[in-house]
Amino acid sequence: MGVLDRAARLARGDSEPHPYRCMSCGADLSVQYHSCPECGGYDIRAAKWVDE
Ligand SMILES: [Zn+2]
Repeated sequence: MGVLDRAARLARGDSEPHPYRCMSCGADLSVQYHSCPECGGYDIRAAKWVDE
């Protein structure tokens, strides 16, 4: 249910401060880096599509 809740919240314009996340180390990112500034990983995804 978490994903749907988050999607609904985003649809209402309640944007998140860190919309992207590194899938390698889990760092929350404010912009979609080509590589993670924390671990150098390249798997950066939009957090709203990531199920916590
Ligand atoms: Zn990382």
